[in-house]
Amino acid sequence: MRMLDDDVKRSVFKTIEAERLFRYDCEVPYESITSRLEDAFAKAVGSRYCVAVNSCSSGLFLSMVTAGVAPGDRVAIPSFTFIAVPSAVVHVGATPMLVEMTEDYVMDLGDFERKIADGTVKALMLSYMRGRVPDIDRVMKLCERYNVLFLEDAAHSLGVLYKGKQTGTFGISGAFSAQSNKMIDGGEGGLFVTDEKQIAFETMLYAGCYEDNWKKHFGTHEDEARLADMTNRYPAYNFRMSNLSAAALLPQISKVEARAERFNANYGKLVEIIGAHPNIRIPSFTDGVRPASDSIQWEFVGLTDDQIARIGSRLIERAVKIDIFTGGNARCFWNWGFFEHAEHDCPATRNMISRTVDMRLKLFFDASAINAIGKTVVHTIDEILAET
Ligand SMILES: *Cc1c(COP(=O)(O)O)cnc(C)c1O
Repeated sequence: MRMLDDDVKRSVFKTIEAERLFRYDCEVPYESITSRLEDAFAKAVGSRYCVAVNSCSSGLFLSMVTAGVAPGDRVAIPSFTFIAVPSAVVHVGATPMLVEMTEDYVMDLGDFERKIADGTVKALMLSYMRGRVPDIDRVMKLCERYNVLFLEDAAHSLGVLYKGKQTGTFGISGAFSAQSNKMIDGGEGGLFVTDEKQIAFETMLYAGCYEDNWKKHFGTHEDEARLADMTNRYPAYNFRMSNLSAAALLPQISKVEARAERFNANYGKLVEIIGAHPNIRIPSFTDGVRPASDSIQWEFVGLTDDQIARIGSRLIERAVKIDIFTGGNARCFWNWGFFEHAEHDCPATRNMISRTVDMRLKLFFDASAINAIGKTVVHTIDEILAET
């Protein structure tokens, strides 16, 4: 299985041959492939509206702007996530508030409740880091109780379902990533979804839909007067998606389910091989979650920092591509030097991240690759233990 199959290549080539790489370079109403992608994506995830943008980060930013997060507000985010998430909060002029994680790599809802109880938190940007999802029912109840806007960073959770429903479709809006390390690969790209028409229209305009180009989006013809009135009232950030990305992405949407199955099968096999090792703790999934595990995380237990570092470098020498969260890693919250936060804000998360291994499970990995990786991991741990 590959990410960029022949149908993807054909779709991109056709777009180039047509010499229409700009999404609004088309006739009214909506022949552009970017508009078709929006329509297909909304249907696939079960949202009413989708606006294609140039990255998930742009989507997260617009998600906060359109929900009413304003400069000076506080926005809760899980403390284990990618640097893009606190960055988007800072771009809005708001301040990120970090919430501890549990040992299953999901946001700690006890800590979340403690931190929002004083009523000073405007929004939650719930990041499903590495596709890991907390108890969303409880998240929504807490947000409702404390009047917190619920927004979702589904950058890495396309294909991850909670109680059968696509993550990213529970909050006011959600944003998915189509950057090459995610479930569908457009090089770069973001897909913003919402059920609220006003939010969808504002997002479209902020993203750089100028003049009457809204006529080239699906589902706008009933709202001509409203959109004509809205035009030129919203500053354009020009976050538009290129037809080239959309052409690569459109044929991949129908493959998400098969990819998720493949990833989950590989994940299961790898856990069978390494999960029983006494120095490895495999996190569990929240009840009701159907994962799409294009990566695996585990925690080293009973090992010193030095042993973990040596296992890490030896695995890399042996071509097992793993990440450990050291040095300038962009996922370590203590490295986020662009807003004020006490470094020891989230001691439990910090401790957990420093004992974590993260590994991508590529789509092309087959059973024998997984077997070789698993055996190398087990063997390398035992070897380092024997040396010390
Ligand atoms: C990849 C990722 C992002 C950023 O997505 P871009 O499309 O690169 O902006 C944000 N959050 C998480 C959890 C991610 O994995």
